[in-house]
Amino acid sequence: MKPNIVLFCMDALRADALGYYNPEIENTPNIDEMACRGGVFVSHITEDSWTLPSITTLLSGLHRSTHQCINSEFRVPSEIPLLSELMGAGGYTTAAFVGGGWISDKFGLSRGFDFFEEVELLKFRFRRLRWLRFDRSLEVFLRNQASVSNESPFFLFLHDYHIHNWFKDVQEEYSPKTFTRTGSVPKNVSQCSRAYSQRVREMDLFVGKLLHLIRKLGLDQHTILILTSDHGEAFYDHPDSFHHGGFSKFYDELMKIPLIISGGDIPSRRIDWLTRSRDLVPTILSLAQVDTRISFDGENLSSLVFGEAKDLNLIAFTEQVNSVSETHNAIYTAGHWGMLRTKGYKLITNLESGESELYDLKMDPGERKDLSTKKKDVANQMKRRLRDLLKSKDAIKPGEVDIDSVLRKRLEALEYL
Ligand SMILES: [Zn+2]
Repeated sequence: MKPNIVLFCMDALRADALGYYNPEIENTPNIDEMACRGGVFVSHITEDSWTLPSITTLLSGLHRSTHQCINSEFRVPSEIPLLSELMGAGGYTTAAFVGGGWISDKFGLSRGFDFFEEVELLKFRFRRLRWLRFDRSLEVFLRNQASVSNESPFFLFLHDYHIHNWFKDVQEEYSPKTFTRTGSVPKNVSQCSRAYSQRVREMDLFVGKLLHLIRKLGLDQHTILILTSDHGEAFYDHPDSFHHGGFSKFYDELMKIPLIISGGDIPSRRIDWLTRSRDLVPTILSLAQVDTRISFDGENLSSLVFGEAKDLNLIAFTEQVNSVSETHNAIYTAGHWGMLRTKGYKLITNLESGESELYDLKMDPGERKDLSTKKKDVANQMKRRLRDLLKSKDAIKPGEVDIDSVLRKRLEALEYL
């Protein structure tokens, strides 16, 4: 029997905001408990530091240079099959309850879902009392699926901006919007990070409620819940590093995100090896026993989940082109930036000027001591490797995706081909 799959992307959740990832935090008991029972990837790296390219990778398994959904002018090319379509072709009922904005029909991300609704998952009746109101349409969907669970499994994609919108809880002068428009630095950064932590805590309440409902409906034995994010959030962890997207460099406060896979027959284990958000699509298809014969930029991580494999020796790399504009005149990272992360080192480099930072991730996980001058050879070798990798990705065209006959029929019926 194929398991139900719930993929929950909590927008802007940095890994070290969760207790499992950061023992100094006691803010997330529900997520931590879920993590203790499942597979936890502790070196999981996102594709980009903002929503649209990251979510597109999360749902396509492709590198940002392949899917090209990297700014507001681009939608996901229709030639690229999305996870929702592949799961549908594999016999799954597919539904999405998402925060909208970038994750919308406009950007091509509603494709392939039988149900696609833009909702606010986390609402409070009385916020001070933390009396949480569960989203009605999501509850109805789960109840319906519980009553027909023997007929077909479901794939549910959840996304919410609750954590992302922490700045709604602080005075306007501290908000990223004020910062990005005026260049003024918030005077009280701790107020910002407190507001962020509070929202993470509230999202943890929601996860607790969701887990409770899944158990109550008798779905827990056959449902795999996957928690992740699209990028982190910066609070001057490094100089000039605030908010996310083009306003900060590729430090771990933005790039290291949680990945927890729990429920069904998933064993409890901690996975230390480097993994990437582009690996999630082939992994989910494998967990769901859906064979597509499509090749992705990501790798199937299911052997790590079940403890059979060793290090897959993966590397993470990305790039971002930021421009200074009237509304974004305070971008510190203006220019064309790239990042390459191996097992031992991380390189952050300006691909135009060559300006670089190099960190030894084992000796210096906080990325404090720039070794780019001291270890010039390593930095130069990584720069060359990054350029080659980015060039190779540009060469892959979405139209070259190998689609098998079953999927072709499915996509034709949906008028994609
Ligand atoms: Zn986001």
